Amino acid sequence: MGSAAGVAESAEPTDGPYSFPPGRPILIRRATVVTVDPSGDVLPETDVLVRGTSIAAVGRDLPAPADAAVIDASGSLLLPGFVDTHRHMWQSAFRGVGADWTISNYLEWMILKWGPLFRPEDIYAGNYLSMVEAVNDGVTTVTDWSHNSRSPEHAEAAMDGLSAVPGRARYGYGNAYDPDFGWVTDGRVDQLLKTRFSGPDQLLTLQLCLDIGTYGDGARKALEFARDRDLRVGHHTGVFGLVGDEQIPFLADNGGLSPSTVLVHGGALSDDAYRRIADAGAHLSISAESELNAGQGYPPTAKAREYGIPLSLSMDTVVWWSGDMFSAMRATLSADRGLAHLRAHEAGHAVVNNSLRAQDVLEYATIGGARALGLDDLIGSITPGKRADLVLLHTQSPAMSPIHHPAGHIVFQAGRGDVDTVLVDGRVLKHRGTLLGVDLNHARRLAEQSLEHLLSKIPEEDWEQAVNPPPGSAA
Ligand SMILES: [Zn+2]
Repeated sequence: MGSAAGVAESAEPTDGPYSFPPGRPILIRRATVVTVDPSGDVLPETDVLVRGTSIAAVGRDLPAPADAAVIDASGSLLLPGFVDTHRHMWQSAFRGVGADWTISNYLEWMILKWGPLFRPEDIYAGNYLSMVEAVNDGVTTVTDWSHNSRSPEHAEAAMDGLSAVPGRARYGYGNAYDPDFGWVTDGRVDQLLKTRFSGPDQLLTLQLCLDIGTYGDGARKALEFARDRDLRVGHHTGVFGLVGDEQIPFLADNGGLSPSTVLVHGGALSDDAYRRIADAGAHLSISAESELNAGQGYPPTAKAREYGIPLSLSMDTVVWWSGDMFSAMRATLSADRGLAHLRAHEAGHAVVNNSLRAQDVLEYATIGGARALGLDDLIGSITPGKRADLVLLHTQSPAMSPIHHPAGHIVFQAGRGDVDTVLVDGRVLKHRGTLLGVDLNHARRLAEQSLEHLLSKIPEEDWEQAVNPPPGSAA
């Protein structure tokens, strides 16, 4: 075939021009393979063979199995799927409402006033739309930070919404409306562990999102519960004016700071807190668009490098900003370098060579996320034996050629519109820009129905005030 990232050459379509029936091996031919494995290798004109759920082989001129569907990827970049470690997917129907918000506006409207209006079916609709968006954008694993799982029915709806789309998801069970953590220990999480979660290799896995900001017995018991069951735990951390430095020693003193801990934001912390996080091997998740716009504290990438804290990236919520991991990588790099230049200029000198590199943020967005979720044996790099969660960028837009610096090209030149083909667990969910087996129209309908209900409960003047907050006030 002539075009890069093109039609499956030897595929025999069953229900459309881009059909990839289950069980058929897939051979991606002559891609520039950005492995993001520990070697950091970028392999030109390299083939990747997918068999079943996994990457069977990576190499040049691999023999094609007789029944393989072959994708010509000449000139295209192939990378591991992105891994987002923190996204409030239940909020998706309110996409873009908070473009001008700060954290104060968000808490007032989204959390305090509107969150309690969400029924289980609204949670389902938000998660469904968000999963479709993730798959379409090459986010092959997304962490649903579900802090509106107010009842068992809300939790079930959240998980059902995630499972209805065949991407990979981490359900982060949370409940911002119960600061005593009774929901953790009252049996409902144990019930889920028995009925819905068997191991790390299923598409939907479980963690807790506790967001500990109160330091009583309930918080202690919740941490103990998670530790006893080997459940990973996430917290919003170091958020200016909301979650202070005292959270970190509390977690450390109560067995809640470990390599199984994912701390989100972390901008408003002391050096002592960063040292404790590093000593414990806990992870930080950077939501640069969020931190820079909402006023939660500056993205702490430089501190993380200084102390050796492992990093991943996240989008937080599409109520404000994008669900675009390309944008997350760019924002992270720009924030880190911008601050380094500013500090240097204030001291009367210039930065000659940048410290944070494009390859670093690409790693944060892929293998770093996989490590944070405890899934790095399965996903996060293009490595034989790992699950085939892959993203192929097409070459057809002017911005995609020529390519001199593959990692830099992914970070600064590519965008969501360049995502040509997406595989999750060996299954092709998008090819040539078309979603396969993922129903965007259904997602839209669900979101519209949910919005209709939610807006019927919100006074018009509230909505107006929320969408257009008065500019420039301080508290
Ligand atoms: Zn958040």
